[in-house]
Amino acid sequence: MPDTKIALVTGANKGLGLETARRLGEQGAVVLLGVRDEARGKQAADTLVAKGLKAQELRLDVTDGACVADAAREIDERYGRLDILVNNAGITGGFFGPPSGATAEQLREVYDTNVFGVVTVTNAMLPLLRRSSAGRIVNMSSNVGSLGLNADPDGEFRQYNVVAYQSSKTALNAITLAYAKELHGTTVKVNAANPGFTATDMNNHRGHQTVEQGAVIAVRLALLGPDGPSGTSQDENGTVPW
Ligand code: NAP
Repeated sequence: MPDTKIALVTGANKGLGLETARRLGEQGAVVLLGVRDEARGKQAADTLVAKGLKAQELRLDVTDGACVADAAREIDERYGRLDILVNNAGITGGFFGPPSGATAEQLREVYDTNVFGVVTVTNAMLPLLRRSSAGRIVNMSSNVGSLGLNADPDGEFRQYNVVAYQSSKTALNAITLAYAKELHGTTVKVNAANPGFTATDMNNHRGHQTVEQGAVIAVRLALLGPDGPSGTSQDENGTVPW
């Protein structure tokens, strides 16, 4: 098998996605930056190429099945396989309310990207990942989606109750585990990464971590060796309860 890994990061034109792509590129991977806007994607890819990394933008709106299928076809034609998929694209939808103030439509909008988009992209890329000698899927989750942490009456998230975003990440955790179960016994590992509160556009840069800090766990899970775990949710310090 060739040594150079082929990696796809969704939502990679900025924030944690771009930083994850940069770090994977630094490790020698060819990084495909999944982006909805090709011009902004090219700009982002150019910053990585200028650093000597092998990077290229790839049009990929995770809510558009035809676009995702085209992206998979392009990767197949160019590389014949995929080694790393980081399902990073995510939104809050701008909805920050508790359940009584939310509408089903708000949840649907957030789920379209954070949940259904992940299933669409993963299923499209899975045949390519199965051709890798060490396929890795990393789903960018969040500690605020952890039922274990949220159920703790004294926990830090007790006061945080943003139903659309949080439950979308809880669903993403369940989906991570479901894929890990299906892929048990294969060379493909599936894990959820919890970056921590990181300064990006998503939170108007209020996060207390830098993207360099936030991307650490996604990169670690993307580069897991053959003895690494599958079906876990992790942050920089170890296992996060589902
Ligand atoms: P960000 O800076 O807002 O980046 C989000 C990325 O997702 C952007 O590139 C955006 O593209 C892309 N995206 C949104 N909808 C998309 C779609 N339909 N198709 C393709 N790409 C799409 O946010 P971030 O903080 O880096 O977030 C990255 C991931 O980390 C998200 O899944 C988020 O939930 C998770 N996370 C973040 C934090 C945090 O504190 N920042 C904490 C925990 C988890 P456009 O530029 O085109 O909008």
